[in-house]
Amino acid sequence: MLNRREALKSLVIGGATTFFSPNVLLASTAKKKDKLGIALVGLGYYSTDLLAPALQMTEKCYLAGIVTGTPEKAEKWKQKYNIPDKNIYNYQNFDTIANNPDIDIVYIVLPPSMHKEYVIRAAKAGKHVFCEKPMAPSVNDCLAMIKVCKDNKVNLAIGYRCQHDPNTQEYMRIGKEKMYGKVRMVSCGAGYFDARTTHWKQNKALGGGVMGDMGVYALQGARLATGEEPIAVTAQSSTTRPEIYKEVEETMMFQLQFPSGALAACHTSFGINMNYLQVNYEKGWLKMEPFSGYSGNKGSHSNGIIEFPLKNQQARQMDEDCLALINSTQLIAPGEEGLRDIRVVEAIYQAAKNGGTVKI
Ligand code: NAD
Repeated sequence: MLNRREALKSLVIGGATTFFSPNVLLASTAKKKDKLGIALVGLGYYSTDLLAPALQMTEKCYLAGIVTGTPEKAEKWKQKYNIPDKNIYNYQNFDTIANNPDIDIVYIVLPPSMHKEYVIRAAKAGKHVFCEKPMAPSVNDCLAMIKVCKDNKVNLAIGYRCQHDPNTQEYMRIGKEKMYGKVRMVSCGAGYFDARTTHWKQNKALGGGVMGDMGVYALQGARLATGEEPIAVTAQSSTTRPEIYKEVEETMMFQLQFPSGALAACHTSFGINMNYLQVNYEKGWLKMEPFSGYSGNKGSHSNGIIEFPLKNQQARQMDEDCLALINSTQLIAPGEEGLRDIRVVEAIYQAAKNGGTVKI
């Protein structure tokens, strides 16, 4: 039997994702669908302002159902999006979604500490799962989430919308094809000023802290630009508003070492507006600003510009993930990709707490 470290290594190094055909799930609907029904779980900011509007533009999926603990929200969404009563659930009766053929995918949009429970319940209900980033507060949670989806033969995709953006794919391509030689140094910053004072992002038990939130974008910037996994980290955390950030960090700086010798310096904060990625290669440079916005990511490099138009990032993400489910092809960002980040996030927290370098 593999111990935890070996199990993790096989997932991370192996890279391959088992892909389960949606036909297993859709058996009850007799014929293969070409448009999948999504139920959003948690109707907060991201579901309300971004995902539901995007689901009005998607071609391969639609907003089929909702799961909410607030009856007033259920009523409002029902009217606005014409959702039938039979597709509206609360957190108590959520598991009966197993019997609902309208729902093919459950999309978890809750605070990070709740992701594991709802991914497990969705997988056990036989539904494919989309889960927002950060995948979970711990590597152990991520491993449990991947396992339950495998055990129940459903697929798990993480909501890394940027990986579906052609502007991100272009800077990934430049690194991968070594257009300017090897990557030597990456600088990446992702942050915004959060004026809220009592949100889950400031609550440790709910999975708050800037590192899991905006920090994973900066980490993704470094991982995707180099195309490598970090082997060692150092990190420093700070808080300028200790009356608000009592339990979690407001700002984190972290430095990554990659196997090729590339280095990355990353910054993330709930107190500073920033969104940029800079890459220095052996024979050239690249700068994206913004690099992880909802729209208008753009940049330039030694020999050109990056500015692909994109109608709606979240619509593209959900359409591409649904197409992968329909055609039984690889997901762009499966659970294993979420795990890769959380593995580094854990090392960053350890480095920030104890000082020194933490090897991964
Ligand atoms: P939010 O606080 O606006 O919404 C959270 C929802 O969870 C609310 O509807 C709330 O009622 C519900 N909830 C249920 N139990 C709760 C509890 N015990 N405490 C707090 N809320 C509870 O948060 P959000 O900004 O919508 O974030 C939700 C998820 O989406 C997070 O994982 C976040 O990181 C992610 N997100 C992703 C992006 C992106 O660009 N991919 C952007 C924003 C948020």
